[in-house]
Amino acid sequence: MDYKQYISVVEDFPMEGIRFKDITTLMQNGEVYAKAVDDIAEYAKQQNVDVIVGPEARGFIVGCPVAYKLGLGFVPVRKEGKLPRETVKVGYGLEYGKDVLTMHKDAIKPGQRVLITDDLLATGGTIDATIQLIEELGGVIAGIAFMIELTYLDGRAKLKGHDIFTLTQY
Ligand code: 5GP
Repeated sequence: MDYKQYISVVEDFPMEGIRFKDITTLMQNGEVYAKAVDDIAEYAKQQNVDVIVGPEARGFIVGCPVAYKLGLGFVPVRKEGKLPRETVKVGYGLEYGKDVLTMHKDAIKPGQRVLITDDLLATGGTIDATIQLIEELGGVIAGIAFMIELTYLDGRAKLKGHDIFTLTQY
């Protein structure tokens, strides 16, 4: 599947100089969205995954349908102040800006094999922070899956040592 033809590239969004990769046009096409989910679910099976973790909001778009397909649980990673119960938290840097990510403390059991999902790998900051949350709870990173990888930002270097699966690269 040539996923690129379904992804829109938007100039200067959300600020000047950023060429934003918009997955909503891919999601509008039911067949293509389903194929993307199936490809990532296949990867998750190969990696022997127990549970799926994704950062808000586009990590949910990728991870939730994969979790449903495989009959696995899904754990949301959210910005500070959004989760109602006791959390672990970590600060991180973005391609543009800074933030804090949190996850419920009881979300991962020690030794569980985790697949992390997000729409796009840029610098790797979001997923590096997500890995810290999972490892703090004793989870094992079984793999990381993205729809899109921006290879020129070399997020793979930041996530080195981890297995990474992507549907398409720019
Ligand atoms: P990173 O932390 O790897 O630098 O940035 C990746 C995060 O920022 C992802 O959660 C992703 O949703 C968001 N992001 C950064 N650039 C883009 C983009 O061009 N398109 C989309 N869809 N998300 C982006």
